[in-house]
Amino acid sequence: MADEADFLAYGRQDIDDEDIAAVVRALQSDFLTTGPEIPAFEAEFAVFTGAAHAVACSNGTTALHLALDALGVGEGDVCIVPAITFMATANAARYCGADIVFADVHRHSGLLTPETFAEALDRAGGKAKAVLPVHLAGVPCDMPQIAELARQHGLVVVEDSCHAIGSREASGAMVGACRHGDAATFSFHPVKSLTTGEGGMVTTSNPDLAARMVRQRSHGIERDPARFARAEGAGEPWYHEMASLGWNYRLPDINAALGRAQLARMPAFAARRRALTAAYREQLQELAPLVSLPADPAGSDPCRHLLNVRIDFAAAGRTRAEVMNALKARGIGTQVHYIPVHTQPYYVQRYGRQSLPGAEAHYAQTLSLPLFTRMERRDVERVCGALAEVLA
Ligand SMILES: *Cc1c(COP(=O)(O)O)cnc(C)c1O
Repeated sequence: MADEADFLAYGRQDIDDEDIAAVVRALQSDFLTTGPEIPAFEAEFAVFTGAAHAVACSNGTTALHLALDALGVGEGDVCIVPAITFMATANAARYCGADIVFADVHRHSGLLTPETFAEALDRAGGKAKAVLPVHLAGVPCDMPQIAELARQHGLVVVEDSCHAIGSREASGAMVGACRHGDAATFSFHPVKSLTTGEGGMVTTSNPDLAARMVRQRSHGIERDPARFARAEGAGEPWYHEMASLGWNYRLPDINAALGRAQLARMPAFAARRRALTAAYREQLQELAPLVSLPADPAGSDPCRHLLNVRIDFAAAGRTRAEVMNALKARGIGTQVHYIPVHTQPYYVQRYGRQSLPGAEAHYAQTLSLPLFTRMERRDVERVCGALAEVLA
């Protein structure tokens, strides 16, 4: 086992003195939660993505739940979710009482495509209410086509953008600008491209949707007198009303302060992730065709969260477990993104065994190599050198 200090995890956070100072200032302020850091972080995130509105919340899963709830997803509805994603994408729809139709994905990119979406729509049999495209690894889905198909069938679109902070679509818009979707959701978990410890955000162009999510993240409490059901309440300084059943999905000010400091560093983070990805692309050519990294969709400019390469384990005569263990022994951490969600026991129990060949082919060959901003070019060389050794 290599020295622990040299261990390269598949992903990790990047916290500097400015980040720490921002958190300390928040701790010394009058507000630990729902203070001035929240609207400031929301406004800055809206500018960053180009969205009209941004609503902060406690994590990426609650961001998905808030968005689907605000868009009216409920009992009797079906949500179309790609089979290759973190399970939270599907689970959030289940929290609303909706059922899931798992869509297949492209076997190389792991992305939902207009074709796999259309096929899932057929299986949903007219009950589909929402589709949740996932910009896997930070690579944008074909949103113009997916959103057009959704519009034709009367579906709302929530882009699970947890991997795509800082990515640009082919249109030139930032992911999260909501050019095509009704809402986009983000996570600020420490392995994501920007962190608040735990945290999340929903962006949208729709002011009513934003207002509903602000209410729902704090018990459904309405504080805007203009929206009170009981008009006399406007003259009563203590008055607030519970308009609907919400949750405590608030983001603390401490975390929002960290988010603002991290967001200021996001251009540097994105440049670093892009440079490391380019270095990987160059180095991995030597391992072709055993190892490959699918090309980015034409015109898009992903800020990758994951370096999820494809490895032909069968041709290499090594199992994935052997490769992972051998890399780990060389001080290199890897991970698999993801076990297809439709094969998880909970979903098998609910919907039975299903075959989604693209998702299963993607799963069979995927491995995420280390990618985080503190890495250097020589770390990329070390990973690719070790991979060459292990596959030889
Ligand atoms: C991380 C992640 C989530 C959930 O975010 P949390 O902040 O961990 O709740 C949802 N979807 C995807 C694709 C993710 O990667």
